[in-house]
Amino acid sequence: MYDFMLSDEERSWRDRAREFAKEQVEPEYLQAMDREEVRFPRELYESYARHGLLGLRFPKEYGGQGLSWVGDSAVQGEIGCLGMAAGCAFVMPSIVGEALHCFGTAEQKQRYLAPMLAGEKVAAEALTEPRGGSDFFGAASTARDMGDHFQLRGMKRFVVGAEGADFFLVYARTNLEEDAPSQERISALLVDRSDAVEVKYLYGLMGSRGGGTGRIVFRDVPVPKENLVGRLHGGAEVFHRMMIPERLTSAAPCMGIMNAALAVAMRYADRRIQFGRPIRKFQGVSFMIAEAITQLDACRAMVYQAARAVDVNAPNVRRIVSETKKFVTTAAWEVVNLAMQVTGGIGYTDVYPIERMVRDVRLAQIWTGTNEIMSAMVQHDYFEEVFGEREFYRDSELDAMHPDPSEKIFDDADMWRVYDQGK
Ligand SMILES: Cc1cc2nc3c(=O)[nH]c(=O)nc-3n(C[C@H](O)[C@H](O)[C@H](O)COP(=O)(O)OP(=O)(O)OC[C@H]3O[C@@H](n4cnc5c(N)ncnc54)[C@H](O)[C@@H]3O)c2cc1C
Repeated sequence: MYDFMLSDEERSWRDRAREFAKEQVEPEYLQAMDREEVRFPRELYESYARHGLLGLRFPKEYGGQGLSWVGDSAVQGEIGCLGMAAGCAFVMPSIVGEALHCFGTAEQKQRYLAPMLAGEKVAAEALTEPRGGSDFFGAASTARDMGDHFQLRGMKRFVVGAEGADFFLVYARTNLEEDAPSQERISALLVDRSDAVEVKYLYGLMGSRGGGTGRIVFRDVPVPKENLVGRLHGGAEVFHRMMIPERLTSAAPCMGIMNAALAVAMRYADRRIQFGRPIRKFQGVSFMIAEAITQLDACRAMVYQAARAVDVNAPNVRRIVSETKKFVTTAAWEVVNLAMQVTGGIGYTDVYPIERMVRDVRLAQIWTGTNEIMSAMVQHDYFEEVFGEREFYRDSELDAMHPDPSEKIFDDADMWRVYDQGK
């Protein structure tokens, strides 16, 4: 349906992912994840790798395919229909892999990136802390320089893969000077799972279950110096780069959930007879479906636009990715709720998967930076862009019928200056 937006290569990978989602994952497995009988979907992760679908945009030498970000996002859009936790396992190599690919040493790439894309090692990212959530740079975990190693001490919470991952990308404060600037305070470290890494407990989640989400306690864990990713105190650079796939991969898989919810709702609306006709013949119902279709199309356009911005290294990538994360995750929430409304009472039961999709998708507006934090970045970056380029555009303010400067007073000094000029 949207083939015209993709190249032959991108389309072919998208089709492989679609085929995978259709044929390779039993409904019983996803149900077991939702019941948390599967604590972490390791088998599924290995299956993604066996089918050559993990980390497609990374170079071939590490097990990727050198695919574009657009193609990779289209693939994520297909896998997304498997649910939030299955989608998260799929995209984690893209997130942690970005840090490794852009900042890792050759040895780190061989030890972590390549095995991750081969399905042999599972990664998790540990950013959020009990005290530092949205305020990421307020992180309190420390990694003290002990000469030949770092000593990591702190707690991280809400880590997907706390149970299940083989290694963690952890951000911790290495610059312990009181007045160290926030962007020069932290470092990114690779921490292997060991007995010293304690998984405290698993959360009772509303949705997105089966991903092994937990709290991790690092109580004076020794971390080898060679596990530093990027430069010492340079964690902010790694973080900012990693947030591109982090947020784009929050958005892209939502297309899969929206698509799935819409398909269920459309089938129901076509078959459910009320007042002597299929309910889709009622404008009230068909307009809900039209709204969902429109939202999904808008999301697809935004995801592909954002992915293309990353492909061409556009200067305003952060803003475009942030607004995409916010828009798509909000739309996904609206679409799954529209699907529930279309399916009436039975949609609220577990006879249909829509109730799980609603539980799942609510998270998307919260994690990987809340949508309020996305708004903060969008407006910040756009002010800079627009004010920086203002001179290139027509000044439409002057087109007003009466552009009276004495009415455009913004401070006291202005007021008297303009008033006196006008006398
Ligand atoms: C199921 C799940 C999985 C997760 N997976 C991971 C993971 O794998 N790794 C990881 O590190 N983290 C993970 N997270 C953490 C997630 O990214 C954070 O929950 C999220 O960034 C918000 O942080 P917080 O929960 O501390 O909320 P808070 O920071 O306490 O925010 C609370 C509210 O205040 C608002 N707020 C805060 N600051 C501002 C501001 N400046 N302007 C406007 N509004 C503001 C927020 O938008 C929010 O509405 C996960 C979370 C969940 C629930």
